[in-house]
Amino acid sequence: MAYQIVDKCVNCTACEMVCPNDAISADVNQFNIDPLLCTECAEAFADPQCTSICPVEGAILDELGEAVNPPGSLTGIIPLVAA
Ligand code: SF4
Ligand code: SF4
Repeated sequence: MAYQIVDKCVNCTACEMVCPNDAISADVNQFNIDPLLCTECAEAFADPQCTSICPVEGAILDELGEAVNPPGSLTGIIPLVAA
């Protein structure tokens, strides 16, 4: 099980500082999660620490490719669905 950071990430650095497994690091483009180190925080926390602190909806995906903080989850503003 591992999360991944995608291009909605704004490189704020917050997640890197709270990951208990040092699974998050930055390259020249953006932050990334090492799938060999990420445990989804299951062993130590009720909630994944990176997604708990991430301010951007959709920046971190779960092992199924779903946003852990989906649209509206942080802002409370549910996006309109295109007709
Ligand atoms: S889910 Fe936990 S272990 Fe995985 S990257 Fe986020 S903070 Fe680190
Ligand atoms: S907390 Fe979110 S926006 Fe900030 S670096 Fe991590 S993934 Fe990117």
